[in-house]
Amino acid sequence: MSGDFTVDQKRYLEGFMSGAQVARAGRAPGGGSPATAEPTGPDAPSLKAMARTEAEGKKLCPEEKAKREEMGLDAWPRMEEAAREGVYPKGPDILRWKYHGLFYVAPAQDSFMCRLRMPNGILTHWQFRGIADIAEIHGGGYADVTTRANLQIREIPATDGVILLEKLVDLGLTAKGSGGDNIRNVTGTPTAGIDPQELLDTRPYAKAWHHHILNTRTLYGLPRKFNVAFDGAGQIGALEDTNDIGFQAVEVKEGFGVEPGVWFRLALGGITGHKDFARDTGVILPPADATKVADAIIRVFIDTGDRTDRKKARLKYVLDALGFDGFLKKVEERLGAPFVRVPADAVKPRPEADRMAHLGVRPQKQAGLNWIGIGVPVGRMTAAQMRGLADIAQNLGDGDLRLTVWQNVLVSGVPDARVTVAKAAITALGLTADADALQAGIVACTGAAGCRFGNADTKATARAIAAYCGPRVALDSPVNIHVTGCHNSCAQHYIGDIGLIGARVAINEDGDTVDGYNLLVGGGFGTEAAIAQELFEQVKAEDAPALVERLLSGWTAQRLPGETFAAF
Ligand code: SF4
Repeated sequence: MSGDFTVDQKRYLEGFMSGAQVARAGRAPGGGSPATAEPTGPDAPSLKAMARTEAEGKKLCPEEKAKREEMGLDAWPRMEEAAREGVYPKGPDILRWKYHGLFYVAPAQDSFMCRLRMPNGILTHWQFRGIADIAEIHGGGYADVTTRANLQIREIPATDGVILLEKLVDLGLTAKGSGGDNIRNVTGTPTAGIDPQELLDTRPYAKAWHHHILNTRTLYGLPRKFNVAFDGAGQIGALEDTNDIGFQAVEVKEGFGVEPGVWFRLALGGITGHKDFARDTGVILPPADATKVADAIIRVFIDTGDRTDRKKARLKYVLDALGFDGFLKKVEERLGAPFVRVPADAVKPRPEADRMAHLGVRPQKQAGLNWIGIGVPVGRMTAAQMRGLADIAQNLGDGDLRLTVWQNVLVSGVPDARVTVAKAAITALGLTADADALQAGIVACTGAAGCRFGNADTKATARAIAAYCGPRVALDSPVNIHVTGCHNSCAQHYIGDIGLIGARVAINEDGDTVDGYNLLVGGGFGTEAAIAQELFEQVKAEDAPALVERLLSGWTAQRLPGETFAAF
């Protein structure tokens, strides 16, 4: 490694390379490249799938026609021109701009939102600081941590979208494919490599998959968006069972005809907005095969996904139509080899996740070092707070910042002797490093303040719930409260102990409405996976905090010792 890199940049670049090397080290022959070499011109698999659909007498949905007319990745020169003219995209171009990570979010905000991508949700302090600068210069001066352990910058003017994307690349980042019908940011265990209980460090696998996507043009333009996550069995869940593909690190026992040790178990079809978790397929694979297998799965999805009805275009519906066995057979044909399957009892139970481990101070597997989980209310950080966190990571930690699906940030590698100083610095930023059971469980999507689909201002409601319930309810264990703005379910209301989904609430017979919610209870994830059921309809947003407080107070008053909200 040479050149003018700083020590931290060198460390990042070295990690970048070793990650890829680790992931490639044990690959089966042919595993390093797409399962099949595919054409990228008119014979591209997605175009062929569209042609097949029409040959069957079916009508492509407008989005498919737009994708056929011009692939989003090819729109870059027109994006540059539009930025020079200061105009936002119209019609099908709105979808094409999303291929580059720019979302035109009018009418909620007459501006772009940029969703980044960062494998495993890990950034260096200099990247974090750079994003803060970008958000301040080209956006609203803040960034939001998303429920996929990612960052979004909002309030970007038409003139600034392209330069913002260029600056991200200068930082070693990209937003490519973070929107549209593409493979989204790769989620992994946020404490990968530092977690005392993990079975596997997910970073190299997330990173290898990230780069495979970025460099494989035929994996863009799917029937619909596609999510992949890697769970290393650490203390903080990755919510991999809410993804289209969940790779779950498991320990396989002796005596089942396969090498005992750590494998990935393959779960497929998660889409909680449609009330489905990813289901165990019985398939296990060597971790080094994850990229090859995910590639083959997605190519079967490209061939078989519905291109006529976007509500039925996700992987779940292919699995429903073909059955898991039928779908996996097609994947095996593409891979040219059968999967390894083991019964459920061949796999040891996953070490339990800890619902509080993303907040507060936790010892790492490296003696004398800790991660500090920082509470970021509804995931929003100002540029100044981001710079402050970057300073803490650089000066008091190992230089990395890690995002979690609980919309918060971890600083890792903090020596015991520096924990007190680091906590004080975090508090000085207006954030908290204390484990707060109420704060730990509240997540909110963008909502009506920044998303055209929102029926309610979810972040405002989530803040109001925290403010109202904080002084009134003493929680000793977290209750997950997921506030989502619409049926797209970006905050996954169906898996919350308490889930709120935005709904317009009628206030008179003239059809006037106000922000409101339907409220659900009983959801869960991981070993407690469950789909929440509706309990109240048409709750005005202003009434939601008091209603949630009544539910929490009722539970704390009546539960048996140790009984969780889910069990209650
Ligand atoms: Fe927007 Fe709906 Fe997603 Fe919330 S759930 S961010 S309102 S699309």
